[in-house]
Amino acid sequence: MKYSAIQNYISGQFISASTTKTMDVISPVDGTFLSTVPMSSYADLETAVQSAKAAFPKWSKTPIKERVQVFFKYKALLEKHLVELAELCSEENGKTYGESVAEIEKCIELTEFATSLPQLVTGEVLEVSRGVECRTEHVPLGVVASIVPFNFPSMVPNWTLPNAIALGNCMIIKPSEKVPLSCGRIAELLKEAGLPDGVFNIVHGDVEIVEAICDHPGIEAVSFVGSTKVAKIVYQRATHNYKRCLALGGAKNHLMVMPDAIPGMTAQNVAASMSGCAGQRCMAASAMIGVGAIDHIVDKICDEARKMIPGKNLGAVINKASKDRIEQFINEAEADGAKILVDGRHTVVEGKEAGTYVGPTVIDYVTPGMSVATEEIFGPVISIIRTNTVDEALVIENANPYGNAASVFTQNGGVARYVIDRASAGMIGVNVGVPVPREPFSFGGWNESKFGVGDITGKSSIEFWTKLKKSTTKWNPEAGVNWMS
Ligand code: NAD
Repeated sequence: MKYSAIQNYISGQFISASTTKTMDVISPVDGTFLSTVPMSSYADLETAVQSAKAAFPKWSKTPIKERVQVFFKYKALLEKHLVELAELCSEENGKTYGESVAEIEKCIELTEFATSLPQLVTGEVLEVSRGVECRTEHVPLGVVASIVPFNFPSMVPNWTLPNAIALGNCMIIKPSEKVPLSCGRIAELLKEAGLPDGVFNIVHGDVEIVEAICDHPGIEAVSFVGSTKVAKIVYQRATHNYKRCLALGGAKNHLMVMPDAIPGMTAQNVAASMSGCAGQRCMAASAMIGVGAIDHIVDKICDEARKMIPGKNLGAVINKASKDRIEQFINEAEADGAKILVDGRHTVVEGKEAGTYVGPTVIDYVTPGMSVATEEIFGPVISIIRTNTVDEALVIENANPYGNAASVFTQNGGVARYVIDRASAGMIGVNVGVPVPREPFSFGGWNESKFGVGDITGKSSIEFWTKLKKSTTKWNPEAGVNWMS
């Protein structure tokens, strides 16, 4: 085992979980046995909640300009340890080193946004009448939880923790049991940055601990990022227990390619979107709808896809089950009559035979009913569906139950606007394959890609992590008794 057994992080200390049940953490890069992660119980969560509760009165009363000083230091530590954090991210998740560097850089950007919160949560004052004013202020919620997926071991935790904590909350995070190492380093860096003990805690585990988070009466709000199946479970269970909940789910993102699209740029964007992080991004292009005569662009997409070399500039998928599942989708598409133009099945990387790799895969002549057209594949696979008109393309895009991202590739501004107005997704791209909004704009999809109100990052997150206090004051008793006086 490369690293010592992973422990929970509570009250500023790494401590053993109360159970002896563990899971192995295996690197998808080459099958290295990295560590074991504890499957914590309700009792472990209880300890974390008590720790967070104890820290809350002092932390929430610390002025926000003081609270964000921790995040200025944390940002500097992320920069200082970028290489080490990126290496750990690649090791546990399987993405390439370059993709991990980009992930840590995004953590730095997210933290920068958190340091700007004092300018954004100033509250409002309205002069109602002579000497009478109404004032609003954002008040932290208390103990909050963040449940995160495997595909961004550092970035998704940093979607929630800097904002939630800078806004005065105390957080318990539940990392993915598949990639539990990065969160431990985040905890160490937050402590080094001066975050008081108990403000940030980690409880490892899987289903049992997620259910405990949804049920625990001491937790005020739950954010979740993961698959739609689990997002629905968490949203229902947490809100059933009267908690605030924002649950981001899976996706099936459609890129609509018009015949006038610039071929080289379009092909590069489509290939990068479908294969970045081995296709394990909730913003990945999964289906491409080619409108009209686009054969010349499909040829270039295949050329670009062939440049993705597993183990070099294309990372591994998370585990063997995932590799098998992706290859099964490709098998089904082939059996149903689709044409496999670039085939990534049965990929083995020399020297990393125990790694779990799928090569880039381009499937053409997919029909809307095939599983590769409807399911989230979460691998470096693009399914090309052909239509004659943009309206037919929009019918297909609108019919998919998800709604994270949709993009259009065209040189025609009118067509682009037409698609922006009609695509049923929260994040739209024009000639952009991965249309992630940058802070202060917020990240969040529509439909079955998100349950709950608001978005998870940017300005929108302020509403999720705080509650509004409204006070009305009068300091001129001589003005009369009418509230308008
Ligand atoms: P997942 O839903 O399997 O797991 C997410 C979290 O839920 C993990 O911490 C896991 O331990 C826990 N969990 C798993 N099964 C559970 C159950 N039955 N009950 C309670 N908790 C459970 O997701 P994943 O495989 O880790 O991540 C990939 C998924 O996340 C993809 O669907 C991807 O699209 C989605 N994702 C979405 C976004 C977004 O912004 N919408 C971002 C990243 C990932």
